[in-house]
Amino acid sequence: IAALALTACGRTDSGSSSSSTGGGEAFPKDSLIGVALPQKTSENWVLAEKLFNDGLTGAGFKADVQFANGGVSEQQNQISAMVTKGAKVIIVGAIDGAQLGTQLQQAKDSGATVIAYDRLLLNTDNVDYYVAYDNFKVGVLQGQALLDGLKAKKPSGPYNIELFAGSPDDANAKVFFDGAMSVLKPKIDDGTLKVLSGQTSFEQAVTQGWKAENAQRRADTLLTGSYGTASLDGVLSPNDTLARAVLTSVKAAGKPLPVVTGQDSEVESVKSIMAGEQYSTINKDTRKLVEHAITMVKDLQAGKQLEINDKDSYNNGVKTVPAFLLPPQIVTMENVKTAYVDDPVLGPITK
Ligand code: BGC
Repeated sequence: IAALALTACGRTDSGSSSSSTGGGEAFPKDSLIGVALPQKTSENWVLAEKLFNDGLTGAGFKADVQFANGGVSEQQNQISAMVTKGAKVIIVGAIDGAQLGTQLQQAKDSGATVIAYDRLLLNTDNVDYYVAYDNFKVGVLQGQALLDGLKAKKPSGPYNIELFAGSPDDANAKVFFDGAMSVLKPKIDDGTLKVLSGQTSFEQAVTQGWKAENAQRRADTLLTGSYGTASLDGVLSPNDTLARAVLTSVKAAGKPLPVVTGQDSEVESVKSIMAGEQYSTINKDTRKLVEHAITMVKDLQAGKQLEINDKDSYNNGVKTVPAFLLPPQIVTMENVKTAYVDDPVLGPITK
């Protein structure tokens, strides 16, 4: 991942393009479509399973949707099995996007189309498309929210903050962190923000496996080591699961709650925002992401050219993968009531 040349900065939007090649059906409508999902590290993945099953079968395809709770080798085996079963499209939400080279080569050799879902597939030529929320933008929104939340509590700095990142095997984790740091680093450099632990690099901030217990343990250590008398004003957290773990740690230490960011609009975090504890989350409606992935499958089946709105941003180390990126939305107490009006689960909670 370190070698990955993600050109997330200086990105240009190449605009939308969609047209029919008129080439006729590429494969039969009742073909098998494989969906390889990672571990259930956040609610969005659990939701995606049902949405893919319902959406693909509703469109007439056969669906093979798998989680790989056992880890990378289980996901490798699942993708190989999808190829053997004759899947025409394989959609992959990778645990480790750099560990699937052999299986993606098998997929390509069998004539299947490979779509990276939510997380980019790295160091391979054998990925055709990428569909995701704009991950760099997610990080920028988190960094900006942290600053806004700090200023709302106390008009001027310096503020003491700590930085948390996601799992280093997930290609998204570094992109989220880089997006956030594009906002926070200048403020660290000019002294507005102080990281008392001194841990400002991605490698120092990572949370293996996106696991709550790992974030909680690191927060405990940081609080004991660097915040004996000092106040912790803010925490950059890359998602909701880790945000709640940090808040648990701060509560156990008997400290005032810092401004904490998040991502995923998990039910418990949306409730926490409404209760004035977690400061922000990111709304990345999983229904829209799955819907777009299924639109891609339908277009491939019909022999149509796919709609792509970003041709330049996501270089995976070997190629720049044509992408369809959806816009993420920041959610705080300010807009929590309006952000989820259409959401069947969060709509009623935020009324
Ligand atoms: C997703 C996030 C999620 C994280 C942990 C990332 O790749 O983009 O939405 O919080 O995985 O599951």
